[in-house]
Amino acid sequence: VELEQRIAEHVRDIPDYPKPGVVFKDITPLLADAATFATVVEALAAPFTTGAESGSEGTLAVPDVVVGIEARGFILAAPVAHALGAGFVPIRKQGKLPARTLSATYDLEYGSETMEMHADAFAPGARVLIVDDVLATGGTAAAAMDLVAKAGGTVHGLSFLLELGFLSGREQVPTARPHVLMTV
Ligand code: IMP
Repeated sequence: VELEQRIAEHVRDIPDYPKPGVVFKDITPLLADAATFATVVEALAAPFTTGAESGSEGTLAVPDVVVGIEARGFILAAPVAHALGAGFVPIRKQGKLPARTLSATYDLEYGSETMEMHADAFAPGARVLIVDDVLATGGTAAAAMDLVAKAGGTVHGLSFLLELGFLSGREQVPTARPHVLMTV
């Protein structure tokens, strides 16, 4: 509850962004506050440290790599990877990664979005933790899981700063039991 209160105090609602009717959760004040940023990174990593019960399958090992999703996911996933002693792997929007990629396309309200990851980003069988800032409809998280599976990895867990519960994104990742620091 203390952590949730601190998160709530440092995330602001931006009405009608990026379009009318949407209330955007802006995490930039949280990132700018050194103590809260540090606490959040620690809490995102906590279930996946050695000896902790993981969010996905009750396994006890730390992940080999942490996947971060462009762009805010990078900001959280890189320090989580560092904290866990794991590598960092980016998932990016189409056309941004230089080497051979795998891709996953998912539907948005209007149109679709394609995400890519390097085909050789990690060794087959690698344990992968997926980190992003917000779990909203779950389309992005499902696409990330799809990419990890296509590359031969095992999704070890998913970790999010915020979950927008009213969008039921969890239903898009039914096999994963995402770890979230706060649900709104
Ligand atoms: P989803 O695919 O609908 O679950 O959307 C999740 C993705 O959109 C994440 O990568 C988030 O960074 C971004 N996102 C959606 N809503 C918000 C928000 O309110 N604040 C910040 N990011 C958001």
